[in-house]
Amino acid sequence: MNTFLQYNPTKLFFGKGEVQQISNFLDKGLNVLVVYGGGSIKKNGVYEDVIVELNKAGATIFELSGVEPNPRLTTVRKGVDICKTEKIDFILAVGGGSVIDCTKAISAGAKYDGDTWDLITQKAPIENALPFGTVLTLAATGSEMNSISVITNWETKDKLGWGSPLVYPTFSILDPSYTFSVPRDQTVYGIVDSMSHALESYFHRTENTPMIDGFIESLLRTAIATGPKLLEDLESFEHRETMMYVSTTAFNGTLSNGTDGGDWATHRIEHAISAVYDIPHGGGLAILFPNWLEHVLEEDPSRVKQLAVNVFGISPDNKSDIEAAKEGAKALRDFWNSLGAPNKLSDYNIDDSEFDAMVEKTFIKPGVGTYKEMDRDSVRDILKRSL
Ligand code: NAP
Ligand code: FE
Repeated sequence: MNTFLQYNPTKLFFGKGEVQQISNFLDKGLNVLVVYGGGSIKKNGVYEDVIVELNKAGATIFELSGVEPNPRLTTVRKGVDICKTEKIDFILAVGGGSVIDCTKAISAGAKYDGDTWDLITQKAPIENALPFGTVLTLAATGSEMNSISVITNWETKDKLGWGSPLVYPTFSILDPSYTFSVPRDQTVYGIVDSMSHALESYFHRTENTPMIDGFIESLLRTAIATGPKLLEDLESFEHRETMMYVSTTAFNGTLSNGTDGGDWATHRIEHAISAVYDIPHGGGLAILFPNWLEHVLEEDPSRVKQLAVNVFGISPDNKSDIEAAKEGAKALRDFWNSLGAPNKLSDYNIDDSEFDAMVEKTFIKPGVGTYKEMDRDSVRDILKRSL
């Protein structure tokens, strides 16, 4: 194992009715900015529950609505302006990963004199941030318990991941019943995104990590057992709570304890595609990840074989490593297909005409891939396999 620091200050309140913790947690009489998306929280009653709690805490409430899926810098800037002019003390994100990621950028931008894009592009250091909490309504990204955010700048067509220890949520409310209304397609994207976070963590090259490897394998087997049952019954509390805990754990730092962190090339390529075509994150990952597996197993099948055997129950008997690994990659592809996830770029009407731009955007920051370091040809190969 590598040396590691385990640090995660986010308080999780998990379970039915835990929204009531908001008024216990908040100091009285704060100026609170509530950030949310396109209105799902007004249809499913979550907005009302949150407002009741904020009123109990004597908060003065301000709102920023309309955060887009794949949240945009223009919306972040609106939130930063509200924070500065209204002297906001605390931000409450109510939504999925997009709302939470947007809130993280607002929280850092609110304490910075220049343009927030400087912080996201690391032109300026993040030295301070407004505190914020979250009420999660979609199990997918893990953003509710990590310090990462992804923001799209449509002027430059860049979708950039960034992070800072200053943007961990102070608390997150995880009530599985708040995800009952998540439609089927978004539920599928959430399963794929959570599994991708676990899979990308799994592809590290650190020796002697049996505990974390086994933990990741168990998380993946749980998602594989639960996903189809959840899609049969979208309002099952039992399956919603399992997937919620899976998705939060898949990306809250736990899965990289003691390892080199894993290989996040697929996320980098997906961000590059989304920057050009604005497709759902989980949909892009479902297309790319099986092709990344097939690309890497040709050079080194060992880890894909381990995934095949320990997660998909494939027998390695009488098979070469590469044969067993190929069966593993196919099993993942078949599983996501069985959920109805997209499996080729043409599902989103994407052809090869923007491949040059996507390859360049993948390398917007140097160093793509650690388990297998990618060059431009490797990224192009994965995109071609994904057509
Ligand atoms: P999302 O973009 O937050 O939400 C997708 C859609 O689901 C929205 O239309 C939203 O509607 C709807 N929705 C959310 N909760 C709902 C509910 N309870 N009922 C009905 N509809 C609901 O999806 P996401 O997958 O959570 O976030 C994706 C973003 O996160 C991408 O930009 C991705 O790159 C990023 N990401 C971040 C991390 C991280 O660690 N920070 C990791 C992976 C991905 P409303 O707008 O009406 O709410
Ligand atoms: Fe993701």
